[in-house]
Amino acid sequence: MHVRILLQITGNDATPGVADEIAAFEKMVERPEDLGLSLAEGKALTAAIQQHLVNAQIASWAERQRCCEACGARRRSKGSYPVVFRTLYGDVKLASPRLHRCPCEDVDGPATVSPLRQLVPGQIAPERLYLEARWSSLAPYAAAAELLTDVLPIASGANRTTVREHALRVAERAEAELGEEQPCFIDGCQAEWQALPIPEGRIVAALDGGYVRNWDDRKSNFELIVGRSMPEDRAPRYLGLVHGYDRKPKRRLFEILKSQGLQANQDVTFLTDGGEEVRSLTELVTPEAEHVLDWFHITMRLTVLGQYARGVAHYDEAEGGRLLASVERIKWLLWHGNQHRAGEEITFLEDDVDELEIDYPNLGKFARAAHEFAVCIAANAGSLINYGERFRSGERISSCLAESTVNAVVSKRFAKRQQMQWTKRGAHLLLQTRTRALDGTLRQLFERWHPGLAVNDGGNDVAQAV
Ligand SMILES: [Zn+2]
Repeated sequence: MHVRILLQITGNDATPGVADEIAAFEKMVERPEDLGLSLAEGKALTAAIQQHLVNAQIASWAERQRCCEACGARRRSKGSYPVVFRTLYGDVKLASPRLHRCPCEDVDGPATVSPLRQLVPGQIAPERLYLEARWSSLAPYAAAAELLTDVLPIASGANRTTVREHALRVAERAEAELGEEQPCFIDGCQAEWQALPIPEGRIVAALDGGYVRNWDDRKSNFELIVGRSMPEDRAPRYLGLVHGYDRKPKRRLFEILKSQGLQANQDVTFLTDGGEEVRSLTELVTPEAEHVLDWFHITMRLTVLGQYARGVAHYDEAEGGRLLASVERIKWLLWHGNQHRAGEEITFLEDDVDELEIDYPNLGKFARAAHEFAVCIAANAGSLINYGERFRSGERISSCLAESTVNAVVSKRFAKRQQMQWTKRGAHLLLQTRTRALDGTLRQLFERWHPGLAVNDGGNDVAQAV
């Protein structure tokens, strides 16, 4: 059969426009692939509709621009110049009108104006920018470009370089909106906080570090700090930054908590691996905050110590058994918040390992691990809680949250395994769109920048057409 697709656009004056043929093709019905539109036909069709529609919109818009805003006089035209407007349905070629300034205006400034420049400043449609930023946050730039060109009629306009450039532009715009850094985000006094309404519940935020390979010095890595903030009754949000590169880490964390309804009288628990950088990031962000050494990190270290004790048992069974029992005791004491006795027991363990006189080859490593554990526990003395009690009352004290956050945010996109290398700027900016793509707030960001996106999404014309 022969298929002709016509498009008729009726302007604001209700006069029906001419029905233009925008596509025509022959279809037969013999094989499954004959049914409906093919990918190529679908792309050609949406691209043709887009070109027609945008042309009609710009023609009517440009007509309105002709008149001077101040006096209403018609401005003289000085021709036009070609502009490519990148949309989801193709790169639309437009003629951008150039108009003489109205004689009533001040003579300062250029003699002509190009109003289209204000309508489409970046010459890219917001929704295309959104999808490019979203997909390149979820997949490598080249894969994101391929994915988009697979399904949309944008073959020539999207490649690794342009997609990356667009995604970084989005991140830079978001970065520019972030307020100034402050050493302390606590203001007001306790009396004021107490007068606030009862907050919704505790916010638990897990923070951890991950490493990616450095582009500038291929043998080295640099550190990313990522986090996941989880209020009781609201959706979680991700945080990501390049340590040492980001000048506003506290502000970044504070704004995420604020977007989740943080109040000054609200309990916030920061779970970390106890590292100095991550801990200092959480200080003075909000008054009712506590810093807790993540139970996962404690057990991870104790598991390693237990393995060494088992290793010792191969050489001296009684000694190995005693050390293993000591490790178990430390775990039990820490779990129940008995810091003082745990500290004593850790010192005993250190001494016992130091005094071992056996041929166990990992003895040096065992002693070092025991010593590092002692230092870690001592440095985080103020960050140990009664984990057992908290656990029984249903609170989150670990569950390898921080660890899984690193996997979710860093490993799957910045993977070292794939030999990816990053500049600090590139990694930091990508983290800004990636964290938003993962927690679902990237779309909200675009809808705030372009309120029409939300309106157009719910258009009833679309609903009728479907
Ligand atoms: Zn005028």
